[in-house]
Amino acid sequence: MAGTLLSTELASIPGLGSKFTARLQKLNIKTVGNLLWHFPFRYEDYSSIVPIGELSLDQSATVQGKIHQLNIRRTWKKNFLVIEAIIVDETGGIKAVWFNQPYIIHSLKEGKFYNFAGKVTKSKREIYLASPSFEPMEKSARGETRHTAGLIPIYPETKGLTSKGLRFLIKNALKELEPPEDFLPEEILKEYQLPALRFALRRIHFPLKISDAEAAKNRFAFEDLLLLQLNNIRLKSRLAQEQAEPLKTTAPEMESLTSRLPFILTESQKISLKEILEDLQKSHPMNRLMQGDVGSGKTVIAALAAMVASKNNFQTAFMAPTEVLAGQHYRTITSIFPDFNQGIALLTANKNEIYGQEFPKIISKAKLLKIISEGGVKIVIGTHALIQKNIAFHNLALAIVDEQHRFGVRQRATLASPVGAENDPNRRQALPHFLSMSATPIPRTIALSVFGDLDLSTITELPAGRKKIITKIVAPENRLKAYQFIREQIAKGRQIFVICPRIQPGTVAKDEILTEAKKKALELKSVTEEHKKLSSKIFPELKIAMLHGKMSGKEKDEIMRDFQGGQTDILVATSVIEVGVDVPNAAIIMIEGAERFGLAQLYQFRGRVGRSTHQSFCFLFTDSGSESVTQRLEYLITAKNGFELAEKDLLIRGPGQFLGESQTGLPDIAMDALKNVQLVKMARDSAKKLLSNDPELENYPALAKKMEEFQKTTHLE
Ligand code: ADP
Ligand code: MG
Repeated sequence: MAGTLLSTELASIPGLGSKFTARLQKLNIKTVGNLLWHFPFRYEDYSSIVPIGELSLDQSATVQGKIHQLNIRRTWKKNFLVIEAIIVDETGGIKAVWFNQPYIIHSLKEGKFYNFAGKVTKSKREIYLASPSFEPMEKSARGETRHTAGLIPIYPETKGLTSKGLRFLIKNALKELEPPEDFLPEEILKEYQLPALRFALRRIHFPLKISDAEAAKNRFAFEDLLLLQLNNIRLKSRLAQEQAEPLKTTAPEMESLTSRLPFILTESQKISLKEILEDLQKSHPMNRLMQGDVGSGKTVIAALAAMVASKNNFQTAFMAPTEVLAGQHYRTITSIFPDFNQGIALLTANKNEIYGQEFPKIISKAKLLKIISEGGVKIVIGTHALIQKNIAFHNLALAIVDEQHRFGVRQRATLASPVGAENDPNRRQALPHFLSMSATPIPRTIALSVFGDLDLSTITELPAGRKKIITKIVAPENRLKAYQFIREQIAKGRQIFVICPRIQPGTVAKDEILTEAKKKALELKSVTEEHKKLSSKIFPELKIAMLHGKMSGKEKDEIMRDFQGGQTDILVATSVIEVGVDVPNAAIIMIEGAERFGLAQLYQFRGRVGRSTHQSFCFLFTDSGSESVTQRLEYLITAKNGFELAEKDLLIRGPGQFLGESQTGLPDIAMDALKNVQLVKMARDSAKKLLSNDPELENYPALAKKMEEFQKTTHLE
């Protein structure tokens, strides 16, 4: 298979049976390139060759010796197949043991010399080398070891394809590979001292020292980060070429709008508002993410932007992730601006309402759609159904989206075009401005990389008068005390959230073998059980409701409305309550199975309370006595703000949770690199430099091509 290219299909390589290629496909490996980009996730260090007589317990090492004796037997107890080899060198002997790998007996021969790499392990009766990798010693004499005597790469495996098999394939592929063209420009490699592609490929698989592997890994991570940054800059400039309706306003106009609010805006609300208004005046679409702690007052700023749009006689779509939240935004906005008379509508699967002087309150969907398409209502609040359904706006100029960070050109175009118009290629239409809101503080590296195409506004302070939420980890023996405390708070008129990690109690199938993980899962508190326990045993005198994702939108709506209206004392819920729900009178949030949630998520939960001047509390319950769990939960108590927590959580749980449901399509190595501030900055700087000198990457055709591929495999547009 000489002259192999990265694009060569593995199926076309003679000698690689279809059984193998099928297994490789399971790992999504179809080409030589895929195979070589299947990176090890760790290395076992067998670089020290140790005389048998000097081995110590638990040591990972390579020994070189002769097989003195080889046999295969079955254990009488569990019917395991055991292969044992006695290995000897001048200093002593040790037994090597493999379980249930019958083929090994054919790969070894008594009297021959091999390298064995494994861990020195102790059983009840003896000390042995556990399932060592091995290869004939004459190979090591020629310096060709790949399974022993060095850093041995360990790969993600699949059934029938072990790390050993992968090492074999990869070693051969590297040997036959035509040196691939490096798409990273040479000046960049030089400037940042990154290894060239061919070296990096070799070293990530077969490093001589760990620092080589790390340098290689860095290079691959940098690659993805650079592509990400190039993509961001491209997206930004593409958007800058699109048209949008300039939405003008004046200082006195804003003055009169804000003076009607029932409160005074905080300084950072004012700054964010100013940044948004400046964007809206431009004839290119805004692409802005407004982030701020829960309760920092993002909704009112978004609503003010919508007011400006309607003053300019344009429509705004305001999207929320759930019906509960859509309903809440609707109520907030209609109550903050009670005399708004250009129409505010709520459009969800179950409920259609319209607010405005000449409109009835409840309205049929068909009628509402008609009014929307005629421009008779200026602000339409709803779930994402707003973009999916065939809703035609009359003249949409602003899209506000809660908790979704990306809104591509195509999505905007669909939203903005009257029905049928999206098929007209000659129509060049204005795109709506886009304002995203996030209560999940996004770590800096992620904001700069994954969301690097968005402009950021950050609300850094909470409205005055809010008290710090008292957070406590409650030991199991103090549970009753906590209930007593809750009873007292409810007597004072407060309301309580109880969060459980799951909806229903776990069940066990008849013959199911209980794993540790399953046992743990069974102990988790569920909404239905807790609801039953609290309402029948603990607080029979109180009104307790439950809320979870399996309920219909209508049910959820009613339950939320009752809770917001103070008709229920305790709401037992799953994480549906996580984003945005606003019940100022709720003063305690009690979180069961707290160890099951990420810090960022716990932080969100806690933000459900402390939304008024009442002293609020967050009680974390966990049955896990583990030190690391307690330590993690402690961060929630000590962190100064959401951003600090987010940075911590990024390190502990990785970036996945900040990227929400939208899978980015970024490779693992790049996801991991999102923790690396230094590398993210490097990539950002070089992307800027590259594109400012050569916007079309004309001098870098290989990089330009790679960019195209990147755009296809990721979903970042
Ligand atoms: P979030 O940023 O979590 O979306 P909201 O916009 O829901 O926060 O605001 C939380 C609560 O604080 C709402 O009841 C809102 O009316 C109120 N609020 C917003 N801004 C201020 C302010 N500047 N002063 C006092 N209360 C405010
Ligand atoms: Mg909100």
